[in-house]
Amino acid sequence: MQHRQVRRHGVLPRTERRGDLTRGHAIGAGLDQKAEGVEPRRLGEGGEGRDGAGLFHESRNIDEMAARQACRLRGGAARAIAQSMNFSFALNATDGAARTGVISTPRGEIRTPAFMPVGTAATVKAMRPESVRATGADILLGNTYHLMLRPSAERIDRLGGLHKFMNWDRPILTDSGGFQVMSLASLRKLTEKGVTFKSHIDGSKHEITPERSMEIQKLLGSDIVMTFDECPALPADRTRIAESMRLSMRWAQRSRDAFGDRPGHALFGIQQGGLERDLREESAEALRVVGFDGYAVGGLAVGEGQEAMFGCLDYAPAQLPEDKPRYLMGVGKPDDIVGAVKRGIDMMDCVLPSRSGRTGQAWTRRGQVNLRNARHADDPRPLDETCTCPACANYSRAYLHHVVRSQEMIAGMLLTWHNLHYYQELMGGMRDAIAAQDFADFETRFHAMRAEGDIDRL
Ligand SMILES: [Zn+2]
Repeated sequence: MQHRQVRRHGVLPRTERRGDLTRGHAIGAGLDQKAEGVEPRRLGEGGEGRDGAGLFHESRNIDEMAARQACRLRGGAARAIAQSMNFSFALNATDGAARTGVISTPRGEIRTPAFMPVGTAATVKAMRPESVRATGADILLGNTYHLMLRPSAERIDRLGGLHKFMNWDRPILTDSGGFQVMSLASLRKLTEKGVTFKSHIDGSKHEITPERSMEIQKLLGSDIVMTFDECPALPADRTRIAESMRLSMRWAQRSRDAFGDRPGHALFGIQQGGLERDLREESAEALRVVGFDGYAVGGLAVGEGQEAMFGCLDYAPAQLPEDKPRYLMGVGKPDDIVGAVKRGIDMMDCVLPSRSGRTGQAWTRRGQVNLRNARHADDPRPLDETCTCPACANYSRAYLHHVVRSQEMIAGMLLTWHNLHYYQELMGGMRDAIAAQDFADFETRFHAMRAEGDIDRL
C-alpha cells in the first residue's frame, strides 16, 4: 500500500512539496523519541515549538510522508514505520463489556476509553491547545458544519490544514456535518442526494452530500473522518427511524467510496436505528459489509434519557465489530460516560465540560457544583482539594465565585480547565480499573462519592 502511494505521487504537487523539509524533520524526531522510550515533550512545558512556529510540528500530508519513510528503509524497519504511519486499534484488556486499548495514528496515540473535548470552531473555547493537552486529552473533535461555514474548509486547507490552523498537532476527529445541519441550519431540504440548507450565521445557501462531507473533512486534514448520516430526533416512529437509517446506510456506502484509500486516516461508519434493536442490527450488518476503521453508535443522546440510552447500549456496541473502536457520539455527563464505558464504548465527545465551565458549573468527584451559589462567597477552600488542575491548585472557591459573578473571562478559563481535567482523570481512572479488572469496584466508588454530594458549607 505504501509503495503504491509513492508511485501515485511520484511527482508531488507544488503545494505538497512546500513543507517537505520541516515534515521530514518533525516525523523523524517523533519516531526517534518513541523508539528511545522518551516521552515527547508535553505541550505547555516548553513554550514555542522547536521550529519557532508554535506547537505545530507535523504535516497534514501524512500519506506522502508515510510512503517516503517506508520506501527509504527495508524489511522490518520499513514495516515498523509503515505500521506507525497507519491507523490501528489494539485492545489491551477487557473487564466485562468494558475495554481499554490504544488507537495508533500517525499523529499520536489515543488511549481508550477516550474523551474528546469539542473544538467546534477550531478552538476549545476558553482554552489554549497546550492547556487542553495538559488536561490529558489525546484527541480533539472539530465540527464540519461550523468550519465549512466559517472560515470554510478551502481556506483552512490553503492555510495548511486544521491542525496547523489551530495549533494542535495531535489527532482530530471531525463529525460529518449532518447532525448540526439538522439542529442549527434553517430551510433544510433532505433528499436522497444530500441536504441543502441556509447558514445560521449569514443565511447563505449550502449543500452537504456524502461526497462533499468527505471532501470537506479531507480539506480540514481530519485524522478520523465520520460518514455523512441523518440522525432523527427521538422519539420518532419506527417507520421514520427505519427510513432514516436505510438512507444513512446508503450514504455510508457513498462516503466510503468517496473517502478512497488514505493511509493514516480513518473513516468511521455510524450505526443508526433509534431504540429499535432489530434496526440497530440491520444497520450494523450494513456497515460491516461496507467495512470501516471504526464504528459509532449514532442517534443516541438526542432526548431519549439515560435509562433508554443505557438500554440501547446493552446490545448496540456488541452488534459492532469487536476489533474496531466504538464511538458514542455526543455523550455526556460523567455518569453517562461511566455507564457507556461499562457497556463497551471506547470513545466519546461532549461539549458539556467546556460549556458548563463558561456558565459557572463545575463537575467534580462529588457531582456538579454551581460556583454562582452564594455559599461559596467566603469559602477559602479549593473547588476540589484532590484535583491538581490550575483552578483547584491556585484559587479558592471564593475567587471562582467572584469571577463567575463578575463575568470575568478567567472564570470560563479556569472552570473549563478544571472540568476537562476532571473528565480526563475520570477516563484515566476507568482505563486503570479495566486493566486491573476492577471496573465494578471503580463504578461503586464513583457513585458512592457522587452520592455524598459537595463538601459541607463552612
Ligand atoms: Zn480542578
